[in-house]
Amino acid sequence: MKTIFELSKPGRGNKVLTPYKTTVGLDPTKEVPKADIPASFKRASAPRLPEVSENDLSRHYNALARRSFGVCDGFYPLGSCTMKYNPKVNESIAALSGFTDIHPLQPKHTVSGCETVYSLARKYLCGITGMDDMTFQPAAGAHGEFTGVLLIKAYHESRGDHARKKIIVPDSAHGTNPATAAMCGFEVCSITSTADGMVDLDALRAVVGPDTAGLMLTNPNTVGKFDKNILEITKIVHDAGGLCYYDGANLNAVMGVARPGDMGFDVCHLNLHKTFSTPHGGGGPGSGAVGCKEILKPFLPASTLGEEPSAQSIGQVKMFYGNFLVVLRAVAYLMTLGNSGVREAAQTAVLNANYMKKKMEEAGYIAAYPGICMHEFVLDLAELKKETGVSALDVAKSMLDHGIHPPTMYFPLIVHEALMFEPTETESRETLDEACAVMAEILKTAKEDPAACHAAPHHTVIGRPDETKAARHPVVRYEFGA
Ligand SMILES: *Cc1c(COP(=O)(O)O)cnc(C)c1O
Repeated sequence: MKTIFELSKPGRGNKVLTPYKTTVGLDPTKEVPKADIPASFKRASAPRLPEVSENDLSRHYNALARRSFGVCDGFYPLGSCTMKYNPKVNESIAALSGFTDIHPLQPKHTVSGCETVYSLARKYLCGITGMDDMTFQPAAGAHGEFTGVLLIKAYHESRGDHARKKIIVPDSAHGTNPATAAMCGFEVCSITSTADGMVDLDALRAVVGPDTAGLMLTNPNTVGKFDKNILEITKIVHDAGGLCYYDGANLNAVMGVARPGDMGFDVCHLNLHKTFSTPHGGGGPGSGAVGCKEILKPFLPASTLGEEPSAQSIGQVKMFYGNFLVVLRAVAYLMTLGNSGVREAAQTAVLNANYMKKKMEEAGYIAAYPGICMHEFVLDLAELKKETGVSALDVAKSMLDHGIHPPTMYFPLIVHEALMFEPTETESRETLDEACAVMAEILKTAKEDPAACHAAPHHTVIGRPDETKAARHPVVRYEFGA
């Protein structure tokens, strides 16, 4: 495909404005005066802008769009990331000029609608998480973790308890958890999981102590299991004087059903851009809202509603109030679903994952962890690789030929040939059946003709780029000829 610069032809394009002759307003006798720009401000040569016709331009962008794949193109079961359909009506609401044409420094009485949005978000999401207060400043999940762990740090310091240098993180955690703990100046203490994917209680008991600042945990965890010992886990940490952090990036398995606050957690973050109706991905604006219990409230960043922060506040973590339109979408989403709808979304997410897991097991795939899963599950393809040489990567690449986005690969790290599926609550039974049929067919191909899987994908524009190079050294700049 040609770049827009290669399509460019000097002089081509739609010239709407005639230089200098444009009239002022509707009066044809008045011309815009030629500006007298000092030479020092003038550029030496014209900018290298592509010159193309409107047709070329539209076709260029449409061609780019056709080459991308999103949740509006097909099934996208990316685990640990909730790539679900987000209702379009919430996009329309977020585009209303009353919400977009405002400024954070506007007088308070002119933005009471926006204040209402924040107070509703706080009310609904504190209700869903079982927390006492919430900040909407953090712009992403990892940013929320950073904020939440700073709250834990401020809490211990406010009590003169300076010995608490360690944060405990299970080995099944999302990579951002240990990264956050390290960023906040803590030592990361990793503990192992049991064979069925739970926190190893003995391993936890062995590491807690007067140096424990806290524990970071996802429940259900990144292997899709709900830790049934959760009350015991949070008690062990609390008894040692530590606090408990809940990574609620993907709350869609438990929202409306179980609350982190009731599980014994003191602070949590939510990814509004995964679970609450803002599309996730592409680095777009997000919101890692952080909720906390009463004991951590004094340390919160400046309040979302413009109140003065307390003297013990950790300070601002982002300018103004955070990404407002993301919060707005979450409120619109929650208002349309209502209490029972939120619960039903969670139940359907879990049902869909279990339905797929069972069908895949029947097709001959091996789940990394047996039994009921929550909103996602992990397949372990180590056995298949040993038998046929076909790896998790080969299976993922084969899925592309069937118009399905691959699931998360090689994560969590504790499963070596991992494929992690999260169908989400928004997919129909027919879509799940089709995807399972595709997976069964790929398994058959893997056994009968492994070479075909190694060579997949056969029908996409890009096949197998060097993934490390593509991620670390992307070429995003057009090299103009001399
Ligand atoms: C996505 C995710 C995060 C990080 O969220 P970002 O918005 O990408 O920073 C943290 N924890 C879990 C479990 C996640 O799935």
